[in-house]
Amino acid sequence: MTELDPYLKGKVALVTGASRGIGRAIAVQLARRGASVACVATTPERAQGTVDLCVAAGARAQAYGVDVGKTAAVAELVAKVQADLGGLDLLVNNAGITRDQLLLRMSEEDFDAVIQTNLKGTWNFVKAAARTLMKCQGRIVNIGSVVGVTGNAGQVNYAASKAGVFGLTRSVAKELSSRRVTCNAIAPGYIDTDMTAAIDAKAKEALVASIPLGRTGTPEDVALLVDYLCGPGGSYITGQTFVVDGGLSL
Ligand code: NAP
Repeated sequence: MTELDPYLKGKVALVTGASRGIGRAIAVQLARRGASVACVATTPERAQGTVDLCVAAGARAQAYGVDVGKTAAVAELVAKVQADLGGLDLLVNNAGITRDQLLLRMSEEDFDAVIQTNLKGTWNFVKAAARTLMKCQGRIVNIGSVVGVTGNAGQVNYAASKAGVFGLTRSVAKELSSRRVTCNAIAPGYIDTDMTAAIDAKAKEALVASIPLGRTGTPEDVALLVDYLCGPGGSYITGQTFVVDGGLSL
């Protein structure tokens, strides 16, 4: 692995959904830039593999577990991360779930679960971390989805949660800009992770054919943009949503 400019040395990052997929790639990329990383999943055990990768990249890292949808537990966790790692400068809200179903068959439970994790989970962390981030000109990156921009049949709950994340992002950017905190969102398209693994080979082939850049995305495609937004290049960018989808939504 090539050595990168460690421009995040001395910074503490918290990444949710860090056990696998996009969150793991983000945690490792920030670690490679020198940040200390709090890797958050549903349990610390599930995040340990990512912690090991961050440590192998030369960074300090620690595993944490919480249900991102639980407000009080998230506040406790954010305080603990600061006590353990000596602050909090970079917050990446990446944890997310799908419970796909056509509107007429979607249960209230599946609607609420997706909103609770994807949208309220983001709000929980932003709220808990805001005071600290205001003291250190912190950065917030929220992971949405291109589906929150375009909509998608069978994903009313998920699309609503991700569109909500974009509105939250713009509003937080406005509220915290006077304290030089930036808040941006990323809208990934089809990225190869556990979340998309269930799609059958034929449907995937058709999907790839509809992606102008001719391939599905990798977790690293998203992680590199998070790195940019957390680094020196991101200091004058706020309130934006960046689509990373190989042109799928064009
Ligand atoms: P993934 O492989 O399914 O991983 C989901 C992550 O979220 C895991 O770390 C999981 O932790 C964590 N998580 C889920 N519910 C949680 C909860 N209630 N509390 C705490 N952690 C929770 O997902 P992914 O594909 O990497 O996606 C990451 C983000 O990108 C999500 O927000 C997703 O909506 C978004 N996204 C993905 C794609 C794609 O094509 N993959 C496209 C657009 C947007 P555990 O391992 O402990 O369960």
